Amino acid sequence: MQKILFCITQQHIWCYVHNSYNMLWCYATFCIVENFVASKIFLCYNDKMKIEIVKMKRKTMVLKIIDSENAVLKVPSNFSQKKIDAFLQSKARWLEKTIAKMKERENLSSSFDFMNYVYLEGMPLHPTSEISLDFDCQSDEKKKKLIKKFYLSNFGRLEGLAREIAQKTGLKVKEIKPTTSVRIWGSFNSSKVMKLNWKLLILPEQLCEYVICHELCHGLFMNHKPKFWQAVEKVCPEYKSLKKQLAAYSFVLKADF
Ligand SMILES: [Zn+2]
Repeated sequence: MQKILFCITQQHIWCYVHNSYNMLWCYATFCIVENFVASKIFLCYNDKMKIEIVKMKRKTMVLKIIDSENAVLKVPSNFSQKKIDAFLQSKARWLEKTIAKMKERENLSSSFDFMNYVYLEGMPLHPTSEISLDFDCQSDEKKKKLIKKFYLSNFGRLEGLAREIAQKTGLKVKEIKPTTSVRIWGSFNSSKVMKLNWKLLILPEQLCEYVICHELCHGLFMNHKPKFWQAVEKVCPEYKSLKKQLAAYSFVLKADF
């Protein structure tokens, strides 16, 4: 038996349909904007995730996860609801894992407060009392400039760690320079110049070590083929787990300062 529920607010009409599976609720919203009515269809997965169904001209279904609570499912326009439900059922385990991973990442990123603290090796420092940065009464733009200046003045720590690792592993590096990027943690060129993102100073030290080992190994292989990863494993045996942990810190990479 199907249950249908309507909910009408000033701007929306919500229509809920409970489908044959317990884990999915289907609902459509009709957003009323003056004379224009725009409709959207959503599935609610296990009360955890809202999946917007976008019917379009395509051959296969594709599910794009936006965050721990939202996803978009692109569906060929002639596909039935039954096919969509079966597709989501087949992805259930993967969805559960992905939602849990996303939640973990969101909790990690919300534990960082870049506008009120400065972080070194994953630990928060109070700007005014611990490192004499005048954060009081500064605008966000001024704070961002101070934060960047602070990290650049501490780049020696990162360079020292990189030189130490190079010496220990016997991997060659000529110059080590700081870089600012929202995309990459580091780079290594054929002249053996290594660039390290100063935002690495924010991360736990073992993650910096992994990035340094990774970049140093590009001195041996300028690609990410299996031989490169074998070289990384030799100098950083825990690299697989560290690589995963580093991915959770992509919010630091994307931070705007
Ligand atoms: Zn690489």
